[in-house]
Amino acid sequence: MLEPSERAEIGIIGGSGLYSLEGIEDVREIKVHTPYGEPSDNLVLGSLGGRSVAFLPRHGRGHRIPPHRVNYRANVWALRSLGVSWVISVSAVGSLVEEYRPGDLVVPDQFIDMTKRREYTFFEGPRVAHVSMADPFCEHLRRELVNSAERLGYGAHGSGTYLCIEGPRFSTRAESRLWRSWGAHVIGMTLVPEVNLACEAQICYSVLALVTDYDVWSETPVTAEEVTTIMEKNTEKAKSVISDVVRRLPRSPDASLCGCCNSLSTAVI
Ligand SMILES: [Zn+2]
Repeated sequence: MLEPSERAEIGIIGGSGLYSLEGIEDVREIKVHTPYGEPSDNLVLGSLGGRSVAFLPRHGRGHRIPPHRVNYRANVWALRSLGVSWVISVSAVGSLVEEYRPGDLVVPDQFIDMTKRREYTFFEGPRVAHVSMADPFCEHLRRELVNSAERLGYGAHGSGTYLCIEGPRFSTRAESRLWRSWGAHVIGMTLVPEVNLACEAQICYSVLALVTDYDVWSETPVTAEEVTTIMEKNTEKAKSVISDVVRRLPRSPDASLCGCCNSLSTAVI
């Protein structure tokens, strides 16, 4: 691991619409180099609710990097090298079910990976590790995100399956119907391999997914204007949830509440 002089407890990865975080005090920006190349952007460090946080826009500022070109390994490595034990990942998604409406918040508990050509692991050999993905997200962090969303009056779907496609194109109608028949709830392009790399890095990782639209299975698709309005509102909700949840996370993860920080001890190596 790299050892920059800067440290942070909580990492926040911003998705589409979330390129900065207001309310961070004592802001510094640092460039982190990793063995895997450059992260999507400089990391913004600072204090939020009395906690040290590091913010990274997944697609870079100005949304320069498409989902399939994001250097997920460099992003996760950079955050880990700052010492973060928690990562809150924000992601805009489409909905595959009627009940998950545009504007809703979702904290998924499962995923299905339909990506095709990404870098999925830090363990390229000779050391090999097969981490468990049975329950891919940090249960403790998931619960805190759902509780914060409830407290703020937004509410959140506390479970759901995130189907991750390669992109950058959207699904065909046939694909969208297939994902629905598989029981997936939301669809996006960026969860994998961010989630499994975080697990390999023994980070408590969870996603706050923001529904922007019904995917193409729906007979009444929302307009581009509606999507823009919903995304703006969602981004404000995500910022409120983040600033609430960071205050409530313990200094270090509690091994009795989740197994994330021991993920390598239970991996097949
Ligand atoms: Zn955890």
